[in-house]
Amino acid sequence: MSEQIVNGLSVDVEDWFQVGAFEGVIDRASWDSLGSRVEDNCLAILDMFARADVKATFFTLGWVAERHGPLMRRIVEAGHELASHGWDHERVFRFDKASFAADLERSRKVLEDASGVRITGYRAPSFSIDQRTPWAYMALHEQGFEYSSSVAPIVHDHYGWREAPRFAFKPLPWSDLVEIPVTTAHFAGRRLAAGGGGFFRVLPYGFSRWAIRQVNTKDQRPAVFYFHPWEIDAGQPRIAGIDAKTRFRHYVNLDRNENKLRQLLQDFRWGRMDHIFLAGAAAAPA
Ligand SMILES: [Zn+2]
Repeated sequence: MSEQIVNGLSVDVEDWFQVGAFEGVIDRASWDSLGSRVEDNCLAILDMFARADVKATFFTLGWVAERHGPLMRRIVEAGHELASHGWDHERVFRFDKASFAADLERSRKVLEDASGVRITGYRAPSFSIDQRTPWAYMALHEQGFEYSSSVAPIVHDHYGWREAPRFAFKPLPWSDLVEIPVTTAHFAGRRLAAGGGGFFRVLPYGFSRWAIRQVNTKDQRPAVFYFHPWEIDAGQPRIAGIDAKTRFRHYVNLDRNENKLRQLLQDFRWGRMDHIFLAGAAAAPA
């Protein structure tokens, strides 16, 4: 029964000015001068999760953890998992192994110092582990990470690793490290992204509900869903100088998204990524 499967719920904790689509128009050096909204947005999310009685994983930038220590502790005290989203949203394929390892270590230490808990989960910014980053899992293993949820097994203009498995796999045969791809669904002979983000806002809620039910009943696997704090923030500043497609993707349906998310939390069972995927049941050898 689909109602019995607990799905992975995740929040990629970054501020409204840190999204990959804006990197060409917002200079990293200006981040500290832009008004931060991530803490207020996360408090609203913590409230929404508490009302729905669900736990989740918060993949958080080291840059955010360094500036919002009390928020890190609140996330952990509320029973959620704190995990890493890298330091400042640089995509993994822009690193080499050594600079990726340095980014992982810096963000993990800040997250651990702020929260007092060990960090064992990682999500690459913009799902940027793909065929260009064969060294990435080795670096994660060496740093003691137990899982990654960094692959979108689809084709997309900003990201995607089409050949990757749809469900949890072990990328290194000699390591217990598990990769847990974000959810996809089969529709009309195509593999579609169905795990959240812009797709969840753009498409009617019925599509997401159908896709997650398919994964739970037909594939009999947990789904992996994600969203961002800025996706419930209709009042965020509007950025000039971006193309029409980016503007649409970023701002569409922000005002309706919180209600859609509440519905999603009600319609399925949800839990922390580590609790669902590190029990061993979901992972099969690659
Ligand atoms: Zn992100």
